[in-house]
Amino acid sequence: MSYDTNNIFAKILRGEIPCHKVFEDDVALAFMDVMPQVDGHTLVLPKAASRNILDMTPQNLAALITRVQHVAKSVKLAFKADGLQIRQYNEPAAGQTVFHTHFHILPMLEGVGLKRHAGEMEKPEILKANAEKVRAALG
Ligand code: AMP
Repeated sequence: MSYDTNNIFAKILRGEIPCHKVFEDDVALAFMDVMPQVDGHTLVLPKAASRNILDMTPQNLAALITRVQHVAKSVKLAFKADGLQIRQYNEPAAGQTVFHTHFHILPMLEGVGLKRHAGEMEKPEILKANAEKVRAALG
């Protein structure tokens, strides 16, 4: 399977579509998932084009996972989470719906479950406030 340069995350990376950004450097961009499975659901994606981890270079994947950890710590802090899930889907059979590599960061509270994957759109004002919380935690 090849990489489609018109996938929605490629458009976000090119600045053609807005996002509620929490982190950016030369390797990665992180922003709030618009259909969060839990308050604080954040996505981290590499700037380099790849469909999923199967076509990434080991070097790019290694660099990306350090950004995932960095953002994950701030998401945990920002949402006073008891724990975190890090999820990542490869190909439709595994549940992937956007074909630019990304990691999901899901802050987990004891006893609170997740909503369904890519379910309901969140209100922009809530996503904006949540992005601000993560940015504040990132310092
Ligand atoms: P996946 O199934 O792992 O490919 O997940 C794609 C994720 O991207 C889902 O959780 C969607 O809610 C999320 N998503 C889709 N479009 C956007 C967008 N424009 N901005 C932020 N998140 C998005």
